[in-house]
Amino acid sequence: MEYNANNVFAKIIRGEIPCNKIYEDDYALAFYDIAPKAKIHALVIAKAMVVDFADFIEHSTADEIEGYMRAIVKTAEILDLPEGGYRLVFNSGPNSGQEVPHLHVHILGGEKLSTSNL
Ligand code: AMP
Repeated sequence: MEYNANNVFAKIIRGEIPCNKIYEDDYALAFYDIAPKAKIHALVIAKAMVVDFADFIEHSTADEIEGYMRAIVKTAEILDLPEGGYRLVFNSGPNSGQEVPHLHVHILGGEKLSTSNL
C-alpha cells in the first residue's frame, strides 16, 4: 500500500492533531490510545512515513529500526509495565483490522490480558 500522509498519525506527528504524549525522540512518538482496550493502552508510532512493519523494515536504516525498537522499550518503562508484563501488537493489513495506515505498535498492559486471539 502506498503511504498517504493524510492519515491521523501523520497529522499527530505534524502537530495538526493533539495527543496525550508519553515519550518522543528522533525515531518515535508514544501517546495514549484514544479508545483504550486495556487498563493501559499506549501507541508507539514511527517518525518514518511508512504504512506497516514490512514497509518500515524495507525502507529504514539499521539505526532507524533500532531507534524505534528502543523507543518501544523506553515507553513501556515509563509506563512502569515491565514487572507486571505487557503485550505488543503490530496490526498489518485488512485481516488484522489495521485502521490507521501508519506504522504503530500497541502496548497493552496494567492488567491480566485475554489470550483468546493469540
Ligand atoms: P490499528 O487498528 O492497529 O490501526 O489501531 C489504531 C488505533 O489508533 C486504535 O486503537 C484507535 O483507537 C487509535 N486512534 C485513532 N485515532 C487516535 C487518536 N487521534 N489518538 C489516539 N489514538 C487514536
